[in-house]
Amino acid sequence: MASVELNDIRKSYGTLEVIHGVSLSIDDGEFIALVGPSGCGKSTLLRMIAGLEEITNGEVMIAGRIVNPLTPRERNIAMVFQSYALYPHMSVAGNMGFNLKLSGVPKPEIEKRVSEAARMLALTDLLDRKPSQLSGGQRQRVAMGRAIVRDPAVFLFDEPLSNLDAKLRVQMRTEIKSLHQKVGTTSIYVTHDQIEAMTLADRIVVLHQGNIEQVGTPLELYRQPANLFVAGFIGSPA
Ligand code: ADP
Ligand code: MG
Repeated sequence: MASVELNDIRKSYGTLEVIHGVSLSIDDGEFIALVGPSGCGKSTLLRMIAGLEEITNGEVMIAGRIVNPLTPRERNIAMVFQSYALYPHMSVAGNMGFNLKLSGVPKPEIEKRVSEAARMLALTDLLDRKPSQLSGGQRQRVAMGRAIVRDPAVFLFDEPLSNLDAKLRVQMRTEIKSLHQKVGTTSIYVTHDQIEAMTLADRIVVLHQGNIEQVGTPLELYRQPANLFVAGFIGSPA
């Protein structure tokens, strides 16, 4: 677990600036939902935190340390995407443990962590299956398992449920919530689904055209939206 701090983060693609100086302090163990319409810069911001995208300006700090020069692996961050490419030829257990194997973690330790994660995600009975023998929701759980076994300092989620049908989304939302209650890892969760944000997050960050419009608890945003954009997005009556 770790705090995350963004200091005046900017991103330009060529001459076009798409993130305009974002600053934010996230506490140890906090669950943050990052919301905003398509194209507002959510993925770009997340990828800069992960180290997958170069930062044009500003600092990212994790656990009090500037991580700008560090690779994604060195940042000890795990990212869960909507397209959770699993290795088709590997079992569920193989997929979950693969990154640990690459990092040279001893086999008994890999098995221990995989079985713990499988228990948390109700995957214990599916460990020997291939991804093609799983439902969409089960595959998404394997993708989360793959992230959990690494015991990362921070979880980054980029619309992880957007490919699932509505019923499964609700079920997975509950699972993500209970997982966070169990492991307590600092999480930044990108979604364009207000309800998902309201139910999951300790605080919601509303992003609009590369700027933060408001940061607050779900109740604060609902009761006191800073402006019409936030009100419209959160669906509050103001
Ligand atoms: P979101 O995830 O909120 O939908 P993105 O972070 O993907 O938004 O994109 C933010 C803005 O940056 C958009 O205007 C998008 O077109 C632009 N953008 C994203 N990636 C690139 C890229 N590789 N090159 C140029 N522009 C990009
Ligand atoms: Mg995106």
